[in-house]
Amino acid sequence: MNTEALTARDVDRAAAILRAGGLVGIPTETVYGLGANGLDPDAVAHIFQAKGRPQDNPLILHIPSADYLERYCEKIPDRAYALAEAYWPGPLTMILRRKPIVPDVVTAGLDTVGMRCPFHPVCRAILEAADVPVAAPSGNTSGRPSPTTAAHMWEDMDGKIDAIVDGGPCSVGVESTIVDLTETPPRLLRPGGVTLEQLEKVLGEVAVDPAVTRLMGAGERPRAPGMKYRHYAPRAPVTVVAGDPQKSAAYIAAHAGREDGVICFDEFAFLFTGQEVEKLGPAADKREQARHIFDALRAFDHTQVKAIWAQCPAPSGLGLAITNRLNKAAGFHVIQV
Ligand code: AMP
Ligand code: MG
Repeated sequence: MNTEALTARDVDRAAAILRAGGLVGIPTETVYGLGANGLDPDAVAHIFQAKGRPQDNPLILHIPSADYLERYCEKIPDRAYALAEAYWPGPLTMILRRKPIVPDVVTAGLDTVGMRCPFHPVCRAILEAADVPVAAPSGNTSGRPSPTTAAHMWEDMDGKIDAIVDGGPCSVGVESTIVDLTETPPRLLRPGGVTLEQLEKVLGEVAVDPAVTRLMGAGERPRAPGMKYRHYAPRAPVTVVAGDPQKSAAYIAAHAGREDGVICFDEFAFLFTGQEVEKLGPAADKREQARHIFDALRAFDHTQVKAIWAQCPAPSGLGLAITNRLNKAAGFHVIQV
């Protein structure tokens, strides 16, 4: 298949491909998504094929505003509208009861569906022009780090999908926060651009699913099926070193070999002149770190490094999402200093 290169000027072309049952790589503020018409089961099935994604890992439906929720969801609680009012459009996915119109292949047979209203202007224009809910997971090959630039999309999907729309680098850089509103208290299934603290402001108490902070055991069934799979992983094994940045940098400097790679805060890059280094951003700037995390992980796949050592921020605010992605990339191989 010849994959078409589209830009922000080709919104109508992207929408036409989606309506015709095709697959389009779409920029969003979180990561690039791999979109298809969410009401067309054949089109949605092709997403799983292109990504090599397990069939039991459901997708998120993307809509232009909260007004569309009633088309696809039922028994929508007031707190869903309160969250939408506060954080939509934006990097937040709500799990709600689905209506039968949503195909099984989107939800992996669950009676719930993930709903998101993205902020990215090109994405919004495509959603409006397509006039269908767009089912989209992250646009990476299953297991690889999520794509945060059009170049990452081409790396994984060239020849496998109909088109890729270049909307520039993603401004958030980690996938959406997922909160399950079918439970009381609501449950954080995946940390992202809308922080736990922001959710609590609107919802009060929010439970944090254990899969956010630790490896799920073989017999455990996570609430977000995607969480049981190895994720975001570069080819070389990753070790996360958590704790005070001065100490984690010193630990890595003492332990990293010449053939290893290092992901570090900008201030500490000078310690690693002998190694391949990917800078995450300043130690105090979590927004910048979130924007770089996936590109940093991907970059090592173009090198011969034997192992990767990573500094990581404190798990508050956006740091919870960054820590979660790094820990998953490391298979929760974490050293606390
Ligand atoms: P991705 O954007 O590639 O991470 O894929 C969508 C994520 O949303 C996956 O991790 C899914 O497990 C999660 N998700 C989608 N729908 C549901 C649902 N109904 N219940 C729980 N998690 C969901
Ligand atoms: Mg994904």
